[in-house]
Amino acid sequence: MTALSIRTRIELAPTKTCNTSLAENPWAFDTAPGYGPGSSQEDTVPGFAPTNATARPGQLPEAYRKMDDEELHRRIREAKATLGEKLVILGHFYQRDEVVQHADFIGDSFQLANAALTRPEAEAIVFCGVHFMAETADILSTAEQKVILPNLAAGCSMADMADEDSVETAWEEIAEVYGFDPENPQPDEDGKLPVIPVTYMNSSAALKAFCGQRGGIVCTSSNATTVLEWAYERAHRVLFFPDQHLGRNTAKAMGIPLEQMPMWNPRQPLGGNSAEDLQEAKVLLWHGFCSVHKRFTVEQIDKARQEHPGVKVIVHPECPMPVVDAADEAGSTDAIRKFVEASQPEDVIAVGTEINMVNRLAAEYPDRTIFCLDPVICPCSTMYRIHPGYLAWVLEDLVAGEVSNQITVPERIATPAKIALDRMLAAKPR
Ligand code: SF4
Repeated sequence: MTALSIRTRIELAPTKTCNTSLAENPWAFDTAPGYGPGSSQEDTVPGFAPTNATARPGQLPEAYRKMDDEELHRRIREAKATLGEKLVILGHFYQRDEVVQHADFIGDSFQLANAALTRPEAEAIVFCGVHFMAETADILSTAEQKVILPNLAAGCSMADMADEDSVETAWEEIAEVYGFDPENPQPDEDGKLPVIPVTYMNSSAALKAFCGQRGGIVCTSSNATTVLEWAYERAHRVLFFPDQHLGRNTAKAMGIPLEQMPMWNPRQPLGGNSAEDLQEAKVLLWHGFCSVHKRFTVEQIDKARQEHPGVKVIVHPECPMPVVDAADEAGSTDAIRKFVEASQPEDVIAVGTEINMVNRLAAEYPDRTIFCLDPVICPCSTMYRIHPGYLAWVLEDLVAGEVSNQITVPERIATPAKIALDRMLAAKPR
């Protein structure tokens, strides 16, 4: 793991943050309704399927709430040393540095799930990310390995925007419009299915299973183009969920006109469309978004260009389309990291992605000016719920022979979800 210093911690000056409660420990707010302070604090936890929503109350034992930072870090290091090879800790790019400094691997969700595969001797995989990431790691890991999410309240507001029931309902409505059996779609005389479901990695295991059972596939922000090409070889159109922006940005870059990308709002009949509107559709975009990436604006890019002539702007494809269009580059977290790696000393780079990752890049490359486009510090509120207190707790439980906060995907979901993931791995760029 790249050595990290605690100096990269976010400075939580109240005037510069989106919520002053960010300076508090998460147990002060992770039992409150909603997603807590941070980028998705305004988002509504889906009411239509509360059991599916991943923003669940946390449950840190009292003793850990009282420990100061120094003691927590000492205990984490000791537990990690005791567990040795039996443990692997994964830290997402967007995770806070106080936690990431203890990780064996840092990466995006899929890189981390694959990194865990390189450690088959590890009996416990502690995933310092969010719920859907731990689910994916559980699907890809061996039956003996236990995947642990230190705080069960670390969900993902975007993943929660598409739940199994509403996607099933949408699928039935779509089947009626295009005239196919929702349980058993058949190819037409051209050998193509009417619709293929494509889910972004940032979705529940149940939705990955939904795709696996219906000829569909998973994509990441790195391979969305390859996956859509795969889908269009097999179908006339795609139902893309839950992130409308990744779907739109990818399809637009492939030359699909915006008129052929109707939005599907799950709270409205036919997603808010008429059956006629849907006839020409090439991609039906689920009405979901990432609360972190929707904060970026074209005005921020204009300001960066005014203040830093020659600045290079790179944003994540979960940003709205006008932001991606105004940037010099768009790419996944890994692509952003590689972009910075390939830059030169003295370069000025404005980044449109989560603040923890941008600050870490800025600390790793002090000879370049690297800053976040958003002047307000507003981390991913759900990722932020993993605090060193939670990490110390689950590790010390492991030392004591107990497994807390295990994420287990039932076999009936894991098997079809893996089919959709395997299709993604087998899809090759044209
Ligand atoms: S950054 Fe966005 S997509 Fe990623 S976990 Fe946070 S809310 Fe979900």
